[in-house]
Amino acid sequence: MTMPNMNYADLKDSYLFFRIAQKTKKYLEDNPDKKLLRLGIGDVSLPLCDAVIKALHEAVDDQATKERFHGYMPECGAPFLREIIADYYNKRGVKIAADEVFVSSGASDELGDILDLFDRSATALVIEPAYPAYVDANVMAGRKILHLSSGEHNGFLPRPDKSVKADIIYICSPNNPTGAVYNRAQLSEWVDFASDNGSVILFDAAYEAFIEEDDIPHSIFEVEGAEKCAIEICSLSKTAGFTGTRLGYTVIPKMLERNNMNFNSMWVRNRTTKTNGVSYIIQKGGAAVFTPEGQSQIKRNIALYKENAKCIMNALDRIGIWYTGGKNAPYVWMKCPDGMGSWEFFDLLLNKIQVVGTPGEGFGSCGEGYFRFSSFGSPEDTKEAAERLQKLLSGKIK
Ligand code: PLP
Repeated sequence: MTMPNMNYADLKDSYLFFRIAQKTKKYLEDNPDKKLLRLGIGDVSLPLCDAVIKALHEAVDDQATKERFHGYMPECGAPFLREIIADYYNKRGVKIAADEVFVSSGASDELGDILDLFDRSATALVIEPAYPAYVDANVMAGRKILHLSSGEHNGFLPRPDKSVKADIIYICSPNNPTGAVYNRAQLSEWVDFASDNGSVILFDAAYEAFIEEDDIPHSIFEVEGAEKCAIEICSLSKTAGFTGTRLGYTVIPKMLERNNMNFNSMWVRNRTTKTNGVSYIIQKGGAAVFTPEGQSQIKRNIALYKENAKCIMNALDRIGIWYTGGKNAPYVWMKCPDGMGSWEFFDLLLNKIQVVGTPGEGFGSCGEGYFRFSSFGSPEDTKEAAERLQKLLSGKIK
């Protein structure tokens, strides 16, 4: 008998978005005249910006000519894209070379694949509440997972706990789901902790482009010493609307080594074995994001999402509800009122004001009693949802 990977039997059902879909479907069947305001799912609603669309069209035309046609692309990424991304870091004062940047099909793919670089016996530390892929990818590999809970007492930004050491440390800042962000000093503590213990940080920077405050690092490599203990995983999904187009990048410094093995060289070996690169057309579209034109266009889109976040934050401020996020992130993470559970609050919003959000409990048990709003919806729906939320929570809707 072929023995399957029995670690899959240890995976918990990923029921969060399934259950949300089921509940909303049932509600609409029972109330066909109602319109739902969806502030739940983390997908973007704005189209790709003009600079990207133009570059994609040009790249398609290239593929129609003998002279400019591209077949297989280099496995680690096209030099034009690796260079423009390295330059993006250099402009922020972070020294990254083009061959430390690896082009990927997105952060999700990379968060799973990168685990090839670690021994099966390596332990993984996941700060919770967390993006569910961190836990699941490690369960599939049969790794031991250590959970570090966070809460309102530490602003959902836990500091290293010397009694909880692990080989792989996941840090997501700006965070999904909480929207909380680590400042430089706090990140520095994590870098020191990882260095002292010989751990490697997997820094998920999928939301770096939403940071607006000066003291918040966009990259772990803005922190001294990180080049010897961290890998950074990035995505153009939320930065530039590439959720359906698919493009990301990963930075592995050449100085990152453990047990005489170099992680950058290992990843080159991995990529040249396991992929044939990302499509030329998509990489051309991605490179356009980093041009001055592309940057100003994506910033306009991000500003619109940030306005949505502000709208939700203003409503919560008026009714005096505790929340985090929203300022440097596209998510607002609020405390459910009157000690309500996450799903109880979900049902209340759905039934009373037809607003759909995401119950915090779906991101780990310490998310129970909290609720996530996404700012990726339309401004009209977000404004309407925030008004209804304010009325409901101030007792004007019974
Ligand atoms: N990391 C975090 C924290 C995310 O929230 C997401 C998507 O929502 C991803 C990674 C995956 O991004 P991608 O679309 O590039 O796969």
